[in-house]
Amino acid sequence: MSVIHRLPDLLVNQIAAGEVVERPASVLKEVLENAVDAGSRAIEVQLEQGGVRRIRVADDGCGIARDDLALALERHATSKIATLDDLERVGTMGFRGEALAAIAAVARTILTSRASGSQHAWRIASDEREPTPAALNHGTVVEVADLYYSTPARRKFLKSEGTEFAHCDEMFRRVALARPDVALQLSHNGRVIHRLGVADPLARVAALMGDDFVAHAREVESEAGTLRLTGLASLPAYSRANRDAQYFFVNGRFVRDKLLTHAVRQAYADILHGARHPAYVLFLSLDPAGVDVNVHPAKIEVRFRDSRAVHQFVFHALTRVLGESGAARAGFES
Ligand code: ADP
Ligand code: MG
Repeated sequence: MSVIHRLPDLLVNQIAAGEVVERPASVLKEVLENAVDAGSRAIEVQLEQGGVRRIRVADDGCGIARDDLALALERHATSKIATLDDLERVGTMGFRGEALAAIAAVARTILTSRASGSQHAWRIASDEREPTPAALNHGTVVEVADLYYSTPARRKFLKSEGTEFAHCDEMFRRVALARPDVALQLSHNGRVIHRLGVADPLARVAALMGDDFVAHAREVESEAGTLRLTGLASLPAYSRANRDAQYFFVNGRFVRDKLLTHAVRQAYADILHGARHPAYVLFLSLDPAGVDVNVHPAKIEVRFRDSRAVHQFVFHALTRVLGESGAARAGFES
């Protein structure tokens, strides 16, 4: 007697959602990254009740053609890669084709989009098979409502509205720091929280981290071969009791990486007391073939091909700017 059976698609997607859709902020991450990948110049985010009740993201990107709308909601369907070669040098934030399918499996999801060149817009909801005509000038609107309505057991893990909003805000800030070339707005329960015009990278950092941080930071700009590090790193006088002002981006992707964190810590070792933490916004760029971003669905972990070289490069780049500032040592002694 046979006991093994294939799981239905919806259940497969609900299982996958466990990895991709931890909370409203993870939905926001995926939908924002899709908007960025679509080449948007302006993106508007509206949240209700910490994103649990509703997340609405409107962009002015390339849009999705009518015949692609249903596919966009399917698992392993993507416009971003086609071959293993593409995967190894991927330049977009997404490429797994999993996010929208996972989101649609655990929340009421509606896509409305007008592909460039299309006569009008089309929309499809996660429980529909065919798109219907809709009104929209350009780009895409993604609406995700009632997160985990279909999986009450998961819903119980959601925290208070304030906590879920704080996670969404943090996710928004990461994308905003990485993409100063995109205008971004965030509102929560009808109130505008951030309104960010297109800016140069330092102005965007100042808008999100505060002038005080910028005033107490050194500008980093270092290059070696294909490696490049830019951004701002705080002087000891601006050190923090926690790690909440630490942003490291690799090829535009926010990452939490042991190797990079270690290189930074080591650069501060002589000038910062052990219990204090530096604040920084750093952008590392390198040849996409030199870094594997396909380690986890959320892509917050990466693997470097030549991790030793990356570590040394980051360490030396920071040591140089921090050492150059006489204030660094003075800060430690005070
Ligand atoms: P991935 O981003 O890994 O390709 P997703 O499930 O996030 O997978 O999205 C599936 C596809 O839907 C994308 O490859 C893209 O073609 C399309 N898509 C999603 N969001 C947008 C958007 N805002 N603008 C244009 N196309 C989009
Ligand atoms: Mg995506």
